[in-house]
Amino acid sequence: MALIELDNLTRFYRLGGETVKALDGVSLAIDAGEFVAVMGPSGSGKSTFMNLVGCLDRPTSGAYSLDRQEMSRRNADELAYVRCHQIGFVFQQFNLLDRLDALGNVEMPLIYAGVERRLRRDRAAAALTRVGLGDRLHHRPTELSGGQQQRVAIARALVNAPKVLLADEPTGALDSRTSLELMALLQSLNREGTTIIIVTHEADIATYAARLIRFLDGKVMSDANQRMVDAAEALKALTASAAMEKVA
Ligand code: ADP
Ligand code: MG
Repeated sequence: MALIELDNLTRFYRLGGETVKALDGVSLAIDAGEFVAVMGPSGSGKSTFMNLVGCLDRPTSGAYSLDRQEMSRRNADELAYVRCHQIGFVFQQFNLLDRLDALGNVEMPLIYAGVERRLRRDRAAAALTRVGLGDRLHHRPTELSGGQQQRVAIARALVNAPKVLLADEPTGALDSRTSLELMALLQSLNREGTTIIIVTHEADIATYAARLIRFLDGKVMSDANQRMVDAAEALKALTASAAMEKVA
């Protein structure tokens, strides 16, 4: 069975006298180890989909299972537990706490999970090293670039070894070069086994994923595997062409 399975999932909102069908009968499966990009126009249901997969929200009808556990009829406490232990989230605005250094930010999910202090420090430092910030443990968010802040957010999302990393527009606040660096990091995490789902409205960002799902009006409009463009290679090409421009 797949890691993530949605069976005719819906999420409707009652607004005044009308029903908004934010998600309108979505069935799909995602295996462990996949790297999926989600695209679609504004209002097509991408965030609703991510919030349901991430157990931040409950569906109106249908079934959702994560690692063979049915999630759609769990209560708020049970969903909070699943979020804490099985899901990693990354958002467009990094959502870091400015009064804590990188280590302190990455430790937060471990505090919620009840991990003791020494182990917390070690695991947070290891996660930051994994995203290339081993030499920035005691920098605060304001002392880091946007790309570095997003790496801290990724370390925080991964520190509990979640089953899936969910990123809603993770490059939305980054310039194109920093976005590419971030995609190269996500690809290397994916090669190490992390299952990743990202929402993006940029077609070139989606090319770094191995599968593309397009939403329209709360439904899946298309869903296909694709050749994954190597972000590290693209970065090298970008660096080479920038050097050429300097010479010219
Ligand atoms: P996307 O992320 O693709 O831009 P969303 O999933 O945020 O789209 O929204 C899908 C649809 O559901 C939109 O029409 C949006 O207005 C509606 N919607 C989302 N959240 C709510 C809410 N809390 N209450 C009412 N309507 C909502
Ligand atoms: Mg959205």
